[in-house]
Amino acid sequence: MDKIKNALGKALGDELVISGQSLRERATSYWDASPTESLLMVCPRSTEDLSKTLEICHGFNQALVTQGGLTGCVEGAVSLPSEVIVSLEKMTEIEEVDELGGTVTVQAGVTLQCLQEALAEKQLLFPLDLGARGSCTIGGNVSTNAGGINVLRYGMMRNLVLGLEVVLADGTVLSSMNYMLKNNAGYDLKQLFIGSEGTLGIVSRAVLRTYPKMPSRNTALVALENFEKVLTLLKMAQREFSGTLSAYEVMWGEYYDDLTVDGAHRAPMARNYPFYVIVELEGACQTRDSEMFQSVLEQALESEVIVDAVITKSGSEREEVWSIRENFELLLAGQAIYLYDVSLPIKNMSAYVGDLKQRLEESWSESTCYVFGHIADGNLHLFIRPADEYSSHADVNRIVYGALEPYQGSVSAEHGIGVEKKPWLAHSRTEQELHLMRTLKKTMDPKNILNPGRVIDI
Ligand SMILES: Cc1cc2nc3c(=O)[nH]c(=O)nc-3n(C[C@H](O)[C@H](O)[C@H](O)COP(=O)(O)OP(=O)(O)OC[C@H]3O[C@@H](n4cnc5c(N)ncnc54)[C@H](O)[C@@H]3O)c2cc1C
Repeated sequence: MDKIKNALGKALGDELVISGQSLRERATSYWDASPTESLLMVCPRSTEDLSKTLEICHGFNQALVTQGGLTGCVEGAVSLPSEVIVSLEKMTEIEEVDELGGTVTVQAGVTLQCLQEALAEKQLLFPLDLGARGSCTIGGNVSTNAGGINVLRYGMMRNLVLGLEVVLADGTVLSSMNYMLKNNAGYDLKQLFIGSEGTLGIVSRAVLRTYPKMPSRNTALVALENFEKVLTLLKMAQREFSGTLSAYEVMWGEYYDDLTVDGAHRAPMARNYPFYVIVELEGACQTRDSEMFQSVLEQALESEVIVDAVITKSGSEREEVWSIRENFELLLAGQAIYLYDVSLPIKNMSAYVGDLKQRLEESWSESTCYVFGHIADGNLHLFIRPADEYSSHADVNRIVYGALEPYQGSVSAEHGIGVEKKPWLAHSRTEQELHLMRTLKKTMDPKNILNPGRVIDI
């Protein structure tokens, strides 16, 4: 430990190497407040620092784990006591905004919210958006191929990345800092690093797509009586709002009900409906869009597709509605509860949730299953509390993924595999795919020092 600490301190400066009590004062992750366990943490300020860090770790055969904002849901960034942490927290520069070309160039440690706010000042939009925006970083978003609430309009992180700079396991800097939408000159190497969760290289900089910020926004919370109507409204909104629909977030009744109990979020409408949807459209003209929004919701009410609606009238009302969907900490208190992120064809969602609830009921009569998600993307999130102190996470996994199998769903829609879902990867990938993943990992990181034990074992 001393040798590597000294080498890193000498190369980068002792102030960028943290260990001992200062390191233990940091929380393990967003989800786990216990002290960080690690050999030491290094915080490079530049690509050059990062390259030196990797060269040194490679020379010592030292395993490391990369950390962005630590909001990842599958324990991929959680360090082991034997690992060096490489934190991107000092690489937070927004280097260049090219308004004409529609690109922004950033260091990987910039948080999503900082980027969104900096662009908003220039009437520009970076459309990735998710509840962890205040802490998650662009490097983490790239490495997990993050999704979030605007995927139905703008795609996942992969669709928003034009170029990447990545530092490889031995310290080599691979620059694929492309600024064009079109570039078919050979293999598109950046794709290897998007969604591979830091196992093939560390993202140091990125060129991202920007869009004009839409001047008009309309948001409503609506209530519906069954899942078929949730799908009918989605089709209606996609047709009538002609490309301006930017979010369609569904909450099953139990989720809304338990998050709006006394002392929690204020309930903008009655708490006993089976389904709630947040519908949001962003367009070019507030007056015209508001009229269209209201008229479509009126049609939906008249034709009994929806049974209730609240259109938000201010920024604070909008935040209030979104906070029910995004601020779910209240559900995490008390007995163990497990988060899932599955995807499956939208036509099978209702049957899947029905099967799942039945299987849970058969195993634990007292269990709770909260369902919500980005259903237009085929993505459901589940919070499951077995309410039985003798049941383990593995028991719940078997039920959730077992029920998914007949529908050929994926065990990870947007959170990735990390450590937590590694035993289930083979349920969503073929043996040939897994073989090629292992071959890539062995070729690009033969010493297995980058996030070892995450995603796939070699
Ligand atoms: C309240 C809340 C809401 C969320 N909502 C969503 C959502 O809607 N959609 C969604 O997709 N996710 C969501 N997430 C999960 C999480 O925010 C994303 O996975 C996010 O992209 C992680 O970014 P991070 O910077 O926190 O990464 P970390 O948690 O620090 O790391 C995640 C993984 O990426 C690797 N990594 C981090 N930075 C780099 C880098 N520079 N180079 C290489 N590897 C790196 C890590 O080693 C780890 O494997 C949510 C999380 C929370 C807490």
